[in-house]
Amino acid sequence: MKDCIFCRIAAGEIPATVVFKDDEVVAFRDLSPQAPVHLLLVPRRHIASLDEAHAADASLLGRLLLAAKDLAAREGIAGGYRLVNNCGPSAGQSVFHVHLHLLGGRPMGWPPG
Ligand code: AMP
Repeated sequence: MKDCIFCRIAAGEIPATVVFKDDEVVAFRDLSPQAPVHLLLVPRRHIASLDEAHAADASLLGRLLLAAKDLAAREGIAGGYRLVNNCGPSAGQSVFHVHLHLLGGRPMGWPPG
C-alpha cells in the first residue's frame, strides 16, 4: 500500500529506528513514546486492522507475538511489559496497518484509558 506509512517504513522508504526485521515482521521505535520502551511491531503485509485478519493470518500474528516477547527480553523488560492493539478509531487506532505496541520500563496502570 503506497499510501500506508507502516508499509513504507517496512519497505525502508520512510526512516524509522528499526530494531528488528525478518521476512514477515518489522519492529521500530514509536515516534511518540508513551513509556521508556515503546516499540511498534508490524507485519510487512498490509492488514488494515485486527478486524481484517483471518484464519490464514494466524501464523503471521503468532510471529508478531513471539517477536514481541523476544524484543521485550532484548530491551530488558522481560516479565514486565504490555502489548496493546488498538482496533478501530474508537479504541484509538490512528494508523490503519495492524500493529502491536510493546510498552515497558515503567509501572502500568489498569484499566487502560
Ligand atoms: P495507533 O494509535 O494504535 O494506531 O498507533 C499508531 C502509533 O504510530 C502511534 O503511537 C504513533 O506515535 C506511531 N507513529 C506514527 N507515525 C510514526 C512513524 N513515522 N514512526 C514511528 N511511529 C509512528
